[in-house]
Amino acid sequence: MNAEILCVGTEILLGDIVNTNAAYLARELAALGIGCYYQSVVGDNAGRLAEGLQLALSRADMVITTGGLGPTYDDLTKETVAEMFGLSMELHRPSLEKMEAMFKGRGRVFTKNNEKQAYFPKGAHIFANDQGTAPGLAVESQGKVVILLPGPPGEMTAMFQKQVRPYLESRSTRVLRSHTIHLFDIGESTVEDMLHQSMLDHENPTIAPYAKLGEVQLRVTASAADEAEAEALMQPVMEEICALFADHVYGVDVQDLQHALVGRLQELGKTIAVAESCTGGTIASRLTDIAGASQVFLCGAVTYSNESKQKMLGVSAQTLEQHGAVSPECALEMARGIRTASGSGIGLSTTGIAGPGGGTPQKPVGLVYVAAVTESQEKVLELNLSRGYADQRKLIRNWASMYAMNLVLELCREAE
Ligand code: ATP
Ligand code: MG
Repeated sequence: MNAEILCVGTEILLGDIVNTNAAYLARELAALGIGCYYQSVVGDNAGRLAEGLQLALSRADMVITTGGLGPTYDDLTKETVAEMFGLSMELHRPSLEKMEAMFKGRGRVFTKNNEKQAYFPKGAHIFANDQGTAPGLAVESQGKVVILLPGPPGEMTAMFQKQVRPYLESRSTRVLRSHTIHLFDIGESTVEDMLHQSMLDHENPTIAPYAKLGEVQLRVTASAADEAEAEALMQPVMEEICALFADHVYGVDVQDLQHALVGRLQELGKTIAVAESCTGGTIASRLTDIAGASQVFLCGAVTYSNESKQKMLGVSAQTLEQHGAVSPECALEMARGIRTASGSGIGLSTTGIAGPGGGTPQKPVGLVYVAAVTESQEKVLELNLSRGYADQRKLIRNWASMYAMNLVLELCREAE
């Protein structure tokens, strides 16, 4: 089975919005083991939409569209598909009633043009929309399937997860399961190089790398008769990869570094406090983004000036004079200081030069020290994060906070 993605919307062609729907669907299709060889975009124009659909259907078994399901005259996707397949449009009363109730509940007037959203090509399979008004649908005809989803990403992704995915899975006799291994502080090319033969050798499960800002993800996907068999196929491969990249794996099936860190601290029953200079509160902000962070996060101090490092964290005047604020000594004293002041199990700190100004030959822009301390462990890391870009301040702060969170995860692994 292979599929094509066709996104509808003039605003995508004009560059007014980024086509995140295509990226999302491409990932989901890959995870389901459905091949996808083309993606396209057409504007809100019936003729070009029909052409795009014809072309996609000539190449693929299935076409997934997003956009153009709304109530206005330029929302044409459903009507175009119905015409192509020679199907009449019929009213789906439950969808109409649901929409009317939704408008009433929100105190909005149900204008006549909204009724359009309750008409579907005869025989369509309907996907209810729990986040908005326009339902989605699947039309099966002449051995092909066209799935039409709403444009707004929140509506589209919720519909995909709750209804389209099960619909696609039910059309297959096999199940696909996958796990994602998250690696930090290693480049995609190195990962590729180390895994190249493995990736070629393994057909089931497959191994696919994805590079994201600051990390590489490896997705292991197995196809099997049932879930238990899929898990059994994946287990040895997962173990092999985790052993190969032992120093870089920060989590499996986690969302990101901050989720991995909060989760790990919760498991260990440990608390953390952070003293940030160059990251300016980024770490505290990321950790507190996560529900349940209050169990592990005690406090954060943004100690930007030397005086505040002294007054609030007890960094010594001698350290600042001899080594400067951007030094391993200062980073360690900051981490110790916030740990003592807060009574946390772990103290974490960052101090560095985010630029663009302020660098010297000895201490260039991008030099950052990160320290993490516990009762029995102390670690300090020197980072050179400059990549030579003109506007890299944000990048340096972002990287520094990621390295800091990863350092605490390393500390936890070493303490085991
Ligand atoms: P509506 O009922 O809102 O009209 P619709 O299904 O007709 O929904 P569109 O009108 O095509 O969808 O798009 C609605 C909005 O959804 C767009 O203005 C845009 O913000 C967002 N959107 C549409 N397509 C995409 C896409 N491919 N990627 C990201 N966002 C999109
Ligand atoms: Mg619309």
